[in-house]
Amino acid sequence: MSGQPRPVVIVGDPVLHQPAQCVTDFGTDLATLIEDMFATMYVAEGVGLAAPQVGVGLRVFVYDCPDDQGEYHRGHLVNPVITSTSSETDEAEEGCLSVPGPYAPLARPHQVSVAGVDQTGRPVEVSGTGFFARCLLHETEHLSGTLFIDHLKRRRRARVLAAIEPFPWNADLPPALSF
Ligand code: ZN
Repeated sequence: MSGQPRPVVIVGDPVLHQPAQCVTDFGTDLATLIEDMFATMYVAEGVGLAAPQVGVGLRVFVYDCPDDQGEYHRGHLVNPVITSTSSETDEAEEGCLSVPGPYAPLARPHQVSVAGVDQTGRPVEVSGTGFFARCLLHETEHLSGTLFIDHLKRRRRARVLAAIEPFPWNADLPPALSF
């Protein structure tokens, strides 16, 4: 089965700015959502995607993202919770498929661990470093209604919002690491 890409919703849509609901139904709708989210993430050339970004207010995200060793990690998490973050941080340019176009530097923990379940309800824990840690945190925050721009100082946040490209998808943008 292969998923169908769905439109990516953009900053300002209420679904991005409110907490998502816990998944309680682990049926075929959830499996389809995850397949569609992978398809959407690849079309949009992102390295992570949370369900609210396709307009679904459920606690689910997918990822296919390199860590600081350049190794890619692919998977999904349902009902994720951050279980640990390192005090050591990395500053890097961060972007978001729901804030298409601009990037901004943001310090994030070097290492992040997240616990949740998979699409069958089986417990999983995922840990990452570097860019993958950034991805795990960015996607989990999406499920709380928080975007990376919410961590920026007011003026930088305004500059980022003013620089949004008018694309409903990021597929036409140069390849870059967006979540
Ligand atoms: Zn994002």
